[in-house]
Formats: sequence, C-alpha cells, structure tokens
Amino acid sequence: MILIDGKKTSQDIKNEIAARVAEIKAEGGKTPHLAAVLVGNDGASQTYVGAKVKACEEVGFQSTLVRLDSSVSEEELLKVVEDINENPDIDGLIVQLPLPKHISVDKVTNKIKPEKDVDGFTPANVGRMTLNWPAYVAATPYGIVELLKRYQIETSGKHCVVIGRSHIVGSPMSILMARNGYPGNATVTLTHSKTQNLAEICRTADILIVAIGKPEFVTADMVKPGAVVIDVGIHRIEDPSKKSGFRLIGDVKFDEVAPLASAITPVPGGVGPMTIAALLYNTLQSAEKKVFG
Ligand code: NAP
Repeated sequence: MILIDGKKTSQDIKNEIAARVAEIKAEGGKTPHLAAVLVGNDGASQTYVGAKVKACEEVGFQSTLVRLDSSVSEEELLKVVEDINENPDIDGLIVQLPLPKHISVDKVTNKIKPEKDVDGFTPANVGRMTLNWPAYVAATPYGIVELLKRYQIETSGKHCVVIGRSHIVGSPMSILMARNGYPGNATVTLTHSKTQNLAEICRTADILIVAIGKPEFVTADMVKPGAVVIDVGIHRIEDPSKKSGFRLIGDVKFDEVAPLASAITPVPGGVGPMTIAALLYNTLQSAEKKVFG
C-alpha cells in the first residue's frame, strides 16, 4: 500500500514555486502578488488567511491582507474587489469565505476578475475547466489532481467513483477525472445523498474519491481490494490523549480501509496540505500570464 503524502508533495510544490520566483526576480521581473480580503473576526478564517499570507512569504511572493469589519456593506466590499481587480500590481485575489449573511457570496465571487480568480470559483473559471481550457482549478480538486500525477496513479479507463457533488470538491473532481487528459479519461460515477446502493457502487471503484463530510463513513466493506482511495474529509474529534484535546479524522475509516487499498491519502497529511500549494501555484500562473494569456 502506498501512503500518498500530501505534506511532502505540497512542500515540493512550494519549493518549485520558490525556485521559479527567485528566477523571475533575478531576471528583473515583477514579484508575484496575492491579495486576500478578510471580513470580520472569525477565528478559523483568520487562521486560514494567516497561513496563506505566511506561505506567500515562504515562496517569495508579495502579499496584501485587506481586513474589513463584519459590518461592511455589500457595496463597499464589491468596491474593494473592484479596486483590486484594477490594480495592475496584484496578480491574484481571494475573498475568504464565509462572508457575513448580509453579503451575497455569489455577487462577490462574480465581481472577481476571472484573470485574478486564483481560487477558481468564478463561473468563467469553472466553465474554462469544464471545457478543458487553461483555467484556475479550485484548490482541493487541484490538490487531488496533483497527488494523482505525482504518484503516477493510472486513471485512464478506470472506474472512478466520487462521493459528494459540492461545487468546491465533488462536482469539479468528477469533471476533471472524466476529461480527456491525464489525470482523466476515467469512467466516472458521481454520487450524492439521493444515490441508491452507494456501497455497491463504491465496491466497483478503482479510484474512490470521498468528499461526503461524514466522519469515517467509508468502511472496508465499501472498498474494492487494490482501489486507490482519496479522502477529502476533515473532522475534529475529541481525544483526551492528545495535548490539543482533539485529533483529525477523515471521511474514510483509515485503519480498516488502508490495508485493502493500493494507495490512500491519510488525514491529516493527505489532501488538506495541498490547498495552499494550489493557491500559490495559481497565483504564479497568473503572474506569468499562463492561463488567460
Ligand atoms: P458538502 O458541501 O457538505 O457536500 C457533501 C456532499 O456529500 C453532498 O453532495 C451530499 O449530497 C453528499 N452526501 C451527503 N450524505 C450522503 C450520503 N449518505 N450518501 C451519499 N452522498 C451523501 O461538503 P464539501 O464541502 O464537499 O466537503 C466534504 C468534506 O471535505 C468535509 O469534511 C469538508 O470539511 C472536507 N473538505 C476538505 C478540504 C481539504 O482541503 N482537505 C476542502 C474542502 C472540504 P447532496 O448534494 O445530495 O446533499
């Protein structure tokens, strides 16, 4: 069984990005620049944005953090996005979610210039990805694709079952696995809460991608021996034996599924660490005008 190491892979990607940034700077080029907008004081959001800013420093990017009070109006936030859209020095723009209830996420997302949408959330980028055009692919699907590539997992002609159809994970993953390319060319079954005989379908999967958001939902009896299992779920559960008082588990019952699988991502240390690498990669792509030309 191969343990797919997302922590190491994300560090490899960051090292590659840092090396490219050093080259750009040595050639007298512009330093890639990511702007993050954070609304309010949500603890988790502050941690995520903090980690993104720190990762920018690590690879030599410039970063700008725009902090707004949770009382900011939708109009004011849209104006901030517009200003960043028009700022030629900034290559990538992310608006940290969730936003306060009085602000429409769709309106704000749609305001982001697709050329700077390094989260890959705008309709333009989702459409481009679907058409197999150059696109900013959202962080989690990007991370999974990169893990499959770097671990040279064969996908062509395989049956890939995806559990979950969210816009940020399951749906884009099903499109990427079905498209004509590598990774891809798989025969894909996209399942959701209305799917019947889920366990039976899962047992036919050569590649099982699980993004259901239910702790340890996938058990050994749902997995074909030799399958590749990608666990997207992240759940915090209480564990008094840990200093922190909790530990992280995934959507897959790792201990019983791992011995069956030919390759599997652990939680933590699998898909999760890849997300920041994806954001940095997309920002570099933007700085180098690789997606929209
Ligand atoms: P989500 O938006 O809650 O979507 C869950 C999906 O699972 C939905 O499509 C839902 O179907 C389906 N589902 C629910 N119960 C089901 C059942 N009994 N049988 C089959 N399908 C079922 O979740 P998400 O945002 O995709 O996230 C999934 C998990 O990944 C969460 O644990 C989340 O924390 C984690 N996550 C991790 C990362 C990372 O970086 N590692 C990134 C994003 C998310 P319906 O559409 O019919 O409701």
